[in-house]
Amino acid sequence: MRTSKDYLAKLAAMRKNIYMDGEIIGRDDSRIVNASRAIQKTFDLAEDPKYKLTATSSISGSRISRFTHIHQNPEDLMAKQEMTRMMTSLVGGCIQRCMGTDVMNALSVTTKNIDIKYSTDYHERWKKYLAHFQENDLVGACAQTDPKGDRRFRPAEQPDPDQYLHVVERRPDGVVVRGAKLHNTMAPYADEIIVVPTRALRKDEKDYAIAFAIPADTEGVYLIGRSAYQHHREPNLEAPIAELGDVESFTVFDNVFVPNERIFVNGETEFGSEVAHLFALYHRHSYCGCKAGTGDVIMGTCALVADYLGIEKMDHVKEKLVEVISVAELVFSAGLAAAVKSKKAPSGTQVPDVVCCNVGRRHAGHNIYHEYNILCDLAGGIPATLPLSKEFNSPAVGDFVKKYIARREGVSPEDHYRAFHLASDVLTSEVATALQVAGVHGGGSPIMEDIAIMTFYNVEAKKDLAKYLAGIKKD
Ligand SMILES: Cc1cc2nc3c(=O)[nH]c(=O)nc-3n(C[C@H](O)[C@H](O)[C@H](O)COP(=O)(O)OP(=O)(O)OC[C@H]3O[C@@H](n4cnc5c(N)ncnc54)[C@H](O)[C@@H]3O)c2cc1C
Repeated sequence: MRTSKDYLAKLAAMRKNIYMDGEIIGRDDSRIVNASRAIQKTFDLAEDPKYKLTATSSISGSRISRFTHIHQNPEDLMAKQEMTRMMTSLVGGCIQRCMGTDVMNALSVTTKNIDIKYSTDYHERWKKYLAHFQENDLVGACAQTDPKGDRRFRPAEQPDPDQYLHVVERRPDGVVVRGAKLHNTMAPYADEIIVVPTRALRKDEKDYAIAFAIPADTEGVYLIGRSAYQHHREPNLEAPIAELGDVESFTVFDNVFVPNERIFVNGETEFGSEVAHLFALYHRHSYCGCKAGTGDVIMGTCALVADYLGIEKMDHVKEKLVEVISVAELVFSAGLAAAVKSKKAPSGTQVPDVVCCNVGRRHAGHNIYHEYNILCDLAGGIPATLPLSKEFNSPAVGDFVKKYIARREGVSPEDHYRAFHLASDVLTSEVATALQVAGVHGGGSPIMEDIAIMTFYNVEAKKDLAKYLAGIKKD
């Protein structure tokens, strides 16, 4: 397995194709290195058994990072969820590396299913790629979300056909693709970009049924980045939460060549649809872990500020803490239930239960702003107005900051300041606001969960139950 030093050295050697803040920057730029700190933790803590970050490879038998693992049984799915929750709590937000894990699991299932139907060799091709992915302990970004243009129109009906990424040329040795994928978390510090379709496709939409993996610095790939960081902190006030950062990207594919060995779906529209659904499914399962971890961060911060304000034992405060606990634990429980009720695909990959995953992700999404609202309520206005650390240290006004930030006897001004700074970081920072939007839309906008639930839930069986109870005879 790699160390974070190996990971950063590899990033530094990649072609410069990140466009941010008016510049073209390399991956050794401090903005990228700092944003990748959450991913670095997945390497730094790999040997610590507490985080369950390793697994045994299903293809080589070697010890590998669980972030590169293909789930083989319900226990693997549960271990991934626990890992995701713990790592999210540890960094105070999105652990980011789940994207690659989820899309690789989706591809493991679909490549096998295509081969069964069409006697193709996608699964062997994908397995070779998996061996490379695991041996080199790679970080994969999943590029699924197309710009989609006018939402009323299907891919080929768009006035601009590039609104959905598609094949523009077919060659004996591969394909050329054009288009873009938006909102790509950590693509600027991923080794590989793994592309899958974003929606169900019709038979006449073959050019849009394309899935592949390429190095993130491939010729023709432009990563147009937007960063989110925490407020600067003076060295004496550094804290783990201050390390959390993120760069999202508009990932543009301007006539990019993809060689055959890196193509995993190519024109099989029904399987383009399947892999789109499966990535969303695995990702919603990951959300049942990370949103529980986010709940842990919000809950802990709520309890700490309530303690320092002297309101912790008040009934209305306890009720609010129970509310955050209930959301986190119900979401996590739905993920565990999805693992318990999971099924094996023909590829041998364990697939979580669709309804359990989606009700968990749905509950998380519906409550995300509610959880932040509780923190906002309990912390008062200070997260939005807290003076920054230079003022805390200032010879001119620092004593005023320390005097007026203090609430409860027995807690130092610095600890009060740290607690409220944490509340500010969790609630109002650039990273926090990106995570809030991701809490609603990540893994698909809210309606997508409802569609998945209504597609897979047996409503007719419940109608039959109602008829039986009502004494209505079956037709
Ligand atoms: C911080 C963040 C990180 C993300 N990371 C990734 C990533 O790493 N990789 C990735 O691929 N994606 C990523 N996403 C994208 C995420 O999956 C999408 O934002 C989500 O699927 C919604 O798509 P959209 O943003 O295009 O919004 P839209 O789909 O346009 O949704 C906007 C509204 O329009 C409605 N709507 C859309 N289409 C229709 C229609 N046909 N009929 C009726 N109503 C419609 C929706 O229900 C919604 O209410 C990320 C998103 C965020 C916010």
